[in-house]
Amino acid sequence: MPIADKMVKMVESASMIRKMFEEGIRMREKYGADNVFDFSLGNPDVPPPTIVKQTLLELIDDKATSHGYMPNPGYPHVRKAVAEYLNKEYHVGITSDLIVMTAGAAGALNDILRALLNPGEDILTPAPYFVGYNQYAFVAGANLKTIATLENFHLDLDAIAAGITKNTRVMLINSPNNPTGAVYNKEELSGLAKLLEAASQKFGKRIYLISDEPYRKIAYDVQVPCVFDVYPHTIVLTSYSKELSLAGERIGYLAIHPDAEDADLIAGAAGVANTMMYVNAPALFQQVVGKLQGVTVDIEIYRKRRDIFCEGLKEAGYELDIPKGAFYLFPKSPIEDDVKFVKLLSEQNILAVPGAAFGGPGHFRLSYAVPDKTIKNSLDGFKKALNSVK
Ligand code: PLP
Repeated sequence: MPIADKMVKMVESASMIRKMFEEGIRMREKYGADNVFDFSLGNPDVPPPTIVKQTLLELIDDKATSHGYMPNPGYPHVRKAVAEYLNKEYHVGITSDLIVMTAGAAGALNDILRALLNPGEDILTPAPYFVGYNQYAFVAGANLKTIATLENFHLDLDAIAAGITKNTRVMLINSPNNPTGAVYNKEELSGLAKLLEAASQKFGKRIYLISDEPYRKIAYDVQVPCVFDVYPHTIVLTSYSKELSLAGERIGYLAIHPDAEDADLIAGAAGVANTMMYVNAPALFQQVVGKLQGVTVDIEIYRKRRDIFCEGLKEAGYELDIPKGAFYLFPKSPIEDDVKFVKLLSEQNILAVPGAAFGGPGHFRLSYAVPDKTIKNSLDGFKKALNSVK
């Protein structure tokens, strides 16, 4: 093998996703873009708010705009702007030295996992979970251990408590969740905090909580609780990929609770981890987001789609929970084999992702980061696919 043995499996799983991409392109060429209903990707189609482009143009015209290297954790003035914003939102007294600007949430996850984990240590995460976690754990040389959630995709605290061992270093959560859309409530997060504290004491080793929150601003009629409030040994990370529709610009950050054990050391290590992969977060977009704290896309666009899609699928006979956040639906597969059902959907020119890909078999994921008409025009195909297995 000309490539490293350890890469073979990773390439295989990446090529599954690539195949899906290619299938979408092939189908669009064959049937025409309007006749293909691609719900496979969480790539926001809602344009960034106008102010993003305005800010970008102003920065480009401004001689003071920097395009050079900066301290690896990011421009001091941008980290200060992020810290000030977080203090308005979270009231935990965060300082800019505890912020690291990153290449998206993926960059932040890679930085923090490499900062915290020794090779062979465990990351625990509730399943279903975002597939990227496998890759980030791989890069960190750590094991990703999944813990099944409850029927409603909320945290199964007993199962988590039973899954923690002396090898556990990190609990990684994601709320609003990709793929389920679940938003964890304050009580379950407090319960999680209690058991992480108890396990840290029991094993004489601090277990850190990482809260992956790129969908925090995309929530419907619920307040997404602040994880910093429940457990001080927490690192919150996010990006502007979804809330500002800037996924391709690769910009995000991580923030460490000031009272986290060894907070300064962790911030330093995460900054150094940054230099090992991509050196620093993109300069221009750091300066853009530094000026746009608190700005988001119009969430109502996603709410409307969620409602049309949920109503249409329920009417067609699908079983699903109405998600409280993010832009995914995670309906039950009408047959046990979700991979097979996704194939049946593709016969209707509908592209979905089997739940098994997220550690959630028996379901399938639909991203509604697509135009309303794609949703409306797909509903007939969903009905036909369901009828074909009845
Ligand atoms: N975490 C979750 C749960 C995601 O869904 C994604 C992207 O879809 C990421 C992290 C990575 O986000 P980014 O594009 O900001 O790196």
